[in-house]
Amino acid sequence: MIVEHIPAFDLFTTSEFRQSPWVTALCEKIGKVWTTRHPMPPGHFGTYFGAMQRRTYANPWIGDLYALHECTHVATLTYDPKRAWSEWSRSMIRSEMEASLASECFAYLLIPGLREKTFPHEIWVDRYLGGFGLLEDVIRKERLRALNAPNFDDFLEHQIHNYSRQNIEWCVLWSEHLGGNTRYQAETAFRLVEKHMASPDRDATHQAWIKSLTETDGPDTAPFLKQAQAFRKVYQASNAHFGNWVFAR
Ligand SMILES: [Zn+2]
Repeated sequence: MIVEHIPAFDLFTTSEFRQSPWVTALCEKIGKVWTTRHPMPPGHFGTYFGAMQRRTYANPWIGDLYALHECTHVATLTYDPKRAWSEWSRSMIRSEMEASLASECFAYLLIPGLREKTFPHEIWVDRYLGGFGLLEDVIRKERLRALNAPNFDDFLEHQIHNYSRQNIEWCVLWSEHLGGNTRYQAETAFRLVEKHMASPDRDATHQAWIKSLTETDGPDTAPFLKQAQAFRKVYQASNAHFGNWVFAR
C-alpha cells in the first residue's frame, strides 16, 4: 500500500470549502496529512494509522465533508503508547465526536450556502439551522444527549446513538492482537499505532512502516486487516439497520 504526504488543503475541491477561513485554519493547523488511494475495506479507519483514504464522491460537497471529517480527526487524535486502553478508547471516541460535530453540524453553520448542496433528505442538524439556537454549544449539548439517550421515536437520533455504540465496538476490536503474517502479528493493534505515530521519526519511517504491515499486494491487503475485517461486519450490520438508505424508501 502506497501512502502520500500531502497538504491537507489539497483534499478540498469545492470553492465553498476552499474559501472558508474555518477550513483554512484547520488545514494550517494540521499541515500535511498522510493519505492513500488504496481501496481499503469499508469502514476501515485508515486516518488513525496515517493512511487517510482518498475517496471520490458523486457530490463534491459531500466529498469535502468527508475530507473535513478526516482532517478533524487528524487535528484531534493524540498518540501516547503509555496510556491504558480505557484512556485511549475515550480519546478515540472524543475525536469521533469532534469529527462528526464538524462534518455533520458546524460545517453548515460556518460555510455559507452549504446545506442546499448536500443531502436532499432531512439531517439531524436541520432542526438547529435558521432558528435562534445557532450556538455551537447548544448543538454540542444536544448531540451528546442524542448519543447517550436518543428520543424514542426519532430515527435520526437513533442513528447517532448507534454510531456511538459502533465506536465502542471498534475500540474493542483494536485491543486485539494483529494476527495475520506480518512481523507484528503478536502486537496489540492500537498500541502499535500509538508507538509509531508518537515516534519522533514517524514521517521519515512512515512509508516503510505501512509497507511492513501489509501482507501482500492486492485489493484487500490494507494494514490491520484482521481489525478491518472484523469491523466491516459491525459496519455493514450497522448500515443495514440504521443507514441513510431508508430515507430513499
Ligand atoms: Zn470519524
